[in-house]
Amino acid sequence: MKPFSYMRARTVEEAVAAHAGRPDARYLGGGTNLVDLMKLGVERPAALVDVSGLPLGAVEELPDGSVRAGATVRNSDLAAHPLVRDRHPVLAQALLAGASGQLRNIATTGGNLLQRTRCPYFQDPSKPCNKREPGTGCGAREGVHRDHAVLGHSAQCVATHPSDMAVALAALDARVELSGPDGQRTLPVTEFHRLPGDRPDQDTEIAPGELITGVVLPAAASGLPSAYRKARDRASYAFALASVAVVLDVRDGVVRHAGIAFGGVAHRPWRARRAEEALVGGPAVDAAFLAALDTELDAAEPLRDNAFKVGLAHRLARDVLHRLTP
Ligand SMILES: Cc1cc2nc3c(=O)[nH]c(=O)nc-3n(C[C@H](O)[C@H](O)[C@H](O)COP(=O)(O)OP(=O)(O)OC[C@H]3O[C@@H](n4cnc5c(N)ncnc54)[C@H](O)[C@@H]3O)c2cc1C
Ligand code: SF4
Repeated sequence: MKPFSYMRARTVEEAVAAHAGRPDARYLGGGTNLVDLMKLGVERPAALVDVSGLPLGAVEELPDGSVRAGATVRNSDLAAHPLVRDRHPVLAQALLAGASGQLRNIATTGGNLLQRTRCPYFQDPSKPCNKREPGTGCGAREGVHRDHAVLGHSAQCVATHPSDMAVALAALDARVELSGPDGQRTLPVTEFHRLPGDRPDQDTEIAPGELITGVVLPAAASGLPSAYRKARDRASYAFALASVAVVLDVRDGVVRHAGIAFGGVAHRPWRARRAEEALVGGPAVDAAFLAALDTELDAAEPLRDNAFKVGLAHRLARDVLHRLTP
């Protein structure tokens, strides 16, 4: 392993200053993804800035009724927090569908958002991969790609984003708080992760040296019926083949609000805007659910071996829409 320096930051300012101007530095959260990638030789940082002890460990209600979770809140603690369980059950369910109890106890909110794809070509430095090494080609496109994307992929990359939590955050219209050398800003989660296009090496819109300080769950979604459902090869400890997060407000039989995001099918959580538009204002009935999901998933472009994902995502979403309809 390449030697690296290690420093444990005590404040956000200290962390950002230690990382600034150093493309070879990495922030370290729980380390459950970064350290694995270092062992595989995929990540070779010269400096680790440990941010797991920063004072960003609170889940709290803000004056406008939104809920803010700090970047170092552990996945287990976020899932168990009453503000999340009671107001945003989709997020608690998504977190509990990810990884294992031991991993969730150490994994952080910031690290979860920035975990890298589990594409096997990306994780093996002896294989071609445009994400790991731009210009080398995409081994998965014509190779092993059963787990890969069916929506929004490019000739350069067909990887999926692995996070369950991020899918729930996308359906909830959550925002990511960032702090960097040029100050602070927030981004909607739906605009935080990128589609691969011709720059698959860039997973997100995060700028060099920027630190995630927290995520904010807007008050508008608070208390609305919501749920997460995930299909995977094993009952636990496995990434999504397809998953769906749904926030649904139905009153008097009419859909007033729908927030739908798919996981396991694209390079980022796939917000199903076309399906949502088709649903809102219409009756909450099976025919409308089917038509809306068709509208969204007709755009899918499956690869040779993963067409099953389209039907799977469709069935998962239909089931959850029914479950949330009074
Ligand atoms: C066997 C196994 C199974 C898993 N199964 C699932 C699953 O089913 N679903 C799922 O969603 N996840 C799953 N995971 C992934 C797990 O959820 C992630 O590894 C974890 O959430 C990453 O969090 P971390 O704090 O350990 O991140 P780290 O490994 O510390 O960091 C990950 C990345 O984020 C960066 N980073 C960390 N914190 C910050 C910050 N505050 N600001 C800016 N950058 C930061 C790091 O530099 C690094 O690039 C699994 C992991 C393993 C090992
Ligand atoms: S799908 Fe993306 S991550 Fe996987 S080999 Fe192709 S370029 Fe690399």
